[in-house]
Amino acid sequence: MNPRPVRPGGSLPQNLLALGSLSLAVGLAVWQQRALGRHRSTPVTAVERPATTFSDVAGLIEAKEELAEIVTFLRDPDRFLRMGARMPRGVLLAGPPGTGKTLLARAVAGEAGVPFFAMSASQFVEVYVGVGAKRVRDLFAAARREAPAIVFIDEIDAIGRRRGDSQSHQEYEQTLNQILVELDGFHPRQAVVVIAATNRSDILDPALLRPGRFDRRVELTLPDRVERLAILQVHAQDKPLAPGVDLDRLAARTAGLAGADLENAMNEAALLALRRGDEVITQADLEEAVDRVIAGPSRRSRALSPRERETIAVHEAGHALVAHQLAGADAPRRVTILGRGLMGGATVLAPEEDRRLWTRSQFLDRLAVLLGGYAAEEFRFGEVTTGSSGDLSQASALAQAMVTSYGMGRSLRGRAFEPTGPLSDAMSRAIDDEVAALVGEALELAGRTIGNAAHLLDALVAALLAEETLDEARLAAILGPRPARPAMN
Ligand code: ATP
Repeated sequence: MNPRPVRPGGSLPQNLLALGSLSLAVGLAVWQQRALGRHRSTPVTAVERPATTFSDVAGLIEAKEELAEIVTFLRDPDRFLRMGARMPRGVLLAGPPGTGKTLLARAVAGEAGVPFFAMSASQFVEVYVGVGAKRVRDLFAAARREAPAIVFIDEIDAIGRRRGDSQSHQEYEQTLNQILVELDGFHPRQAVVVIAATNRSDILDPALLRPGRFDRRVELTLPDRVERLAILQVHAQDKPLAPGVDLDRLAARTAGLAGADLENAMNEAALLALRRGDEVITQADLEEAVDRVIAGPSRRSRALSPRERETIAVHEAGHALVAHQLAGADAPRRVTILGRGLMGGATVLAPEEDRRLWTRSQFLDRLAVLLGGYAAEEFRFGEVTTGSSGDLSQASALAQAMVTSYGMGRSLRGRAFEPTGPLSDAMSRAIDDEVAALVGEALELAGRTIGNAAHLLDALVAALLAEETLDEARLAAILGPRPARPAMN
């Protein structure tokens, strides 16, 4: 719209006409600004009372157990108050994309029967400084009015990055500060629980995680085979499946996929059946749907190839076996080939007691456990993959500390070195040599331990490939009793 200029000296009707179109133009501009302004300052908040319950969430048993207390609290906050218990404030749901964080938060609201105020952190922030902070204020004010209530902040890492990171800027900081102010400002009687979701908890500002803020953390992992079957079953409930359809077969070949991808696959299978003009979903539809999801661009996770699965199983079995066999190491408690991060599995060790003092041989055993995955890959495949990089940097750091802080080198005994202090070239070289010797010694120990118990490595790998996660009891059944612990701990 181009308002015609009001030409001085023009005839009256002409001027009137011009004025008319000018005011129309101004009117339009004002309207537009208001509309845009409304768009800008209206929080993209959705408030609802979800009908979702824990029965809609398959698997994730531990997470549900942890959140059950929040449900109890929201149902009857006064009971907590009478007990003098500290109210839960903030819960951080951390886990890979598509593992059901939003679903779980909605289920908490559904179970408790309270309103659910949802917002995505990336929507808090726009180009106009101050908009994010205002949105946070509005959101919390609305939730307080409706308390008990849940505020759900998705993608908290979008604004909750460590302050001072190159990516953070003023607007992010203001928004983050406002969230902290709101969390700190809860009146003890206000039953508003804030649930934040992230798949990058490693980059969150530590200020968010302090007591009284997001001090409860619930970890969600990729679903294991049993959980994948349960998720497929949940999403098959409203779909007509042909007789004899075997969902467990799909669960078996979808290691590495998240719940969202499995839901997507079930939906895709229904569409395929429709396209065929069929009334029921067949096994072939399901198989093809899974193929499409695995190959498609919209997946949130990545299915592991058989070779990757085997490599991860060998790697984790290596950690677990070395941890089990070496008396100075902590015993393995849980091993899984489904990782938290992008790739890889995890081996969780059980510290038997809070140790304060470590001997050199205990540290050496610990180093060997760290290098157990690397050693197992080398033992089984004759070469290693990139999967050990995290282990290697931890092992190097430990070996470095043994030499520079604890006097546990072979030749540099009885001395400590300031990591930042001035060191002569010769001394730096001596330290490097000592660190290399320690790592070499530990790697040799790990390799020998694995070589001497190759049958146990094979048994662990087979069990991991079949079951994906092995708990303490399964590990004990496969590995047998641990060697006796040394006298001094
Ligand atoms: P993102 O990090 O990408 O936001 P998210 O962890 O919040 O993902 P959701 O959005 O909750 O994941 O999951 C998407 C969908 O996947 C859910 O609506 C649900 O249909 C399905 N889903 C995921 N996990 C489960 C589960 N454990 N049980 C049943 N369905 C699930």
